[in-house]
Amino acid sequence: MSKTDNTPRVSIDAETADGREVSLSLENMTKVYDDGDGGVVAVNDFDLDIYDGEFIVLVGPSGCGKTTTLRTVAGLEQPTEGRIIIDGKDVSGQEPRERDVAMVFQNYALYPHKTVRGNIGFPLEIRKYPQEAVDERVVETAEMLGIGELLDRRPSDLSGGQQQRVALGRAIIRDPELFLFDEPLSNLDAKLRIEMRTELNKLHDRVGKTSLYVTHDQAEAMTLSDRVVVMNDGEIQQVDSPEVVYGKPTNRFVAGFIGEPPMNFFAVTTEIHEDGVTLTADGFTLELPTSVGEKLEAWGGSTERLDLGVRPEAFRDIALLDEEPPAGSTLEAQVMVVEPMGPAKDLAVRPTSRADDEDAEFTARVDNDSGASVGETIRLAIELDEIHLFDAETGRNLLV
Ligand code: ATP
Repeated sequence: MSKTDNTPRVSIDAETADGREVSLSLENMTKVYDDGDGGVVAVNDFDLDIYDGEFIVLVGPSGCGKTTTLRTVAGLEQPTEGRIIIDGKDVSGQEPRERDVAMVFQNYALYPHKTVRGNIGFPLEIRKYPQEAVDERVVETAEMLGIGELLDRRPSDLSGGQQQRVALGRAIIRDPELFLFDEPLSNLDAKLRIEMRTELNKLHDRVGKTSLYVTHDQAEAMTLSDRVVVMNDGEIQQVDSPEVVYGKPTNRFVAGFIGEPPMNFFAVTTEIHEDGVTLTADGFTLELPTSVGEKLEAWGGSTERLDLGVRPEAFRDIALLDEEPPAGSTLEAQVMVVEPMGPAKDLAVRPTSRADDEDAEFTARVDNDSGASVGETIRLAIELDEIHLFDAETGRNLLV
């Protein structure tokens, strides 16, 4: 756990080198819950600057510390170490209501006895806004969210999607510095989730407020965020754009967590030689260019045993290609399952030499025109510039 000094890194007019203002800083934030048995480290040394207007999504498996991070920013939890800076002010010791944040919860948290109008207007009413101004803002906000005609209903007379819009309205109406979202779409059915995702995207474009959003749904993380924060075991694994966390995952954890179906991993031995790198897995061999050998040599660790990572979408059905792929990029596999997905087919396959070995199974996503059928042998090519190699011990991605 790191210690922080007392010098604010962010002041009121703090700007980064590229001129963007920082809206929220989590400075080396650690949260340990007292469980009466040495404590649970829920978040460990979380350090991140979030810029004005950015949409940041925290994603990671259950228990990785996402909600704790969000609740600490809201003031519902106090950090054990480190600080929270909102708009240049250290808010670490402040109560939730003293912070200029609005939170949207998974369960909507609406007042059941109040109408939609009363729920949306509530934050302004308790701040003693004149009634006329409240009425005007409520109508404006409700129209923006497409629930203008529901103002006199009570939450019990609304669908889940409509209730979530009311919760959004209540957050938006008081124009806070920061929006915090705690899995706001998880109670909705699959179709509505996707619709609301698009709505949220449009809303963010319109309102432009800094947002911190927690989800375990990577599709939400990828579609909503300017930057994704991938967490595991209370620690940040990678912070970057959706494209980068997918295309250049920093380690094996991120590589395996982001992407659906998940990346396939193969234990391999490698041999660097003059013309490149020979990579041998149990069931196939690949020939990689010299640039890979240079990266491995620059890294300097033991290359004897590495983990090869290949995304399902990096495979091609050779029968559909116009040209024979390069030697050293192909393998033969037996098809165990075919799952038509619409535009593509997901195949569960095993290298032919290991057709009886359940552990050898991996997923290849091939074009929908592929004629692959169960029990048949298929020839697959791997896009070699899309593969990843990980240090088997630390999980570090050696090719990024
Ligand atoms: P989920 O996706 O399941 O909501 P999460 O990533 O949001 O998980 P947190 O809820 O932040 O994770 O929990 C992080 C860790 O802290 C977990 O190990 C959890 O059991 C523990 N934890 C959370 N709240 C408390 C608490 N009040 N007391 C003790 N431990 C807690």
